[in-house]
This record gives sequence, C-alpha cells and structure tokens, in this order.
Amino acid sequence: MARPTRAVREGVYWRDQNACCSCGSPDGLTFQHRRAVGAGGSKLPPTFSDGLTACAICNARFEGDLQTLALLNGWKVPRGVKDPARVPYYHAATNRWYVLTDEGPWRVEITRDVAVAMKLAVYGPEGSYV
Ligand SMILES: [Zn+2]
Repeated sequence: MARPTRAVREGVYWRDQNACCSCGSPDGLTFQHRRAVGAGGSKLPPTFSDGLTACAICNARFEGDLQTLALLNGWKVPRGVKDPARVPYYHAATNRWYVLTDEGPWRVEITRDVAVAMKLAVYGPEGSYV
C-alpha cells in the first residue's frame, strides 16, 4: 500500500485528536494502515477511512501480541475487506465507537450495539467481506 498523502496523514491525526487509538498517547504517532500492506492490491494512497493514529509501540504490537484485539476493535481490518469504512473502530482512549468516512465529518460516533451489528454484517455468517 502506498504511503498516505501529507493531507491525509495530518487529517487523520487531527481527526483522532493527535492521540493513539489504542493507548491514547500523544507521543511517537504513526499512520496505522487498517488494511494489511498489500491487501487488495491497492497502489492508491490510503484514504481517511484506511487510516488511524497509533503510537509506534501500539502500531508494532498490532502486528504481534495485539493483533486479535486490533481486529476486534477495527484498528486493523482483515485481508479481503474491500471497504474499510464498513468496519467501525473503537477509540479506546475515550471508550467510544466510530464509523470512519472519507468526507466530512470524517468520523461518526455510534453505539456499541450498532458497532456489533456492523461487524456481524461484514464478518458474520451472511458477511462476505464486502
Ligand atoms: Zn499507543
């Protein structure tokens, strides 16, 4: 996956209040690619819904011991998910769920019940990773 444009990177940090989505740290922030690098074969730069703000420590752990949690919380989306905007994400620092958008308002708060329903729609028995 290509690197984000400067505008997208800075916009994602702004949207996420310059804090790691997982631990809330304002230090060592990185652009977290929600889709695995190479997934979908996209050579286009990531969009707002493709990215999250994560500190370097958490970003690395999303590929390791936090991988399952990252998938459950929408910090990563599995290979095969074509539209990451359909997967909500959990903002641990504020205990809230959001849907990401590629246009303003960039993210919309949702209830936990809506988040569960959205994840079931994508991952559940009827879901096909659309
Ligand atoms: Zn962190």
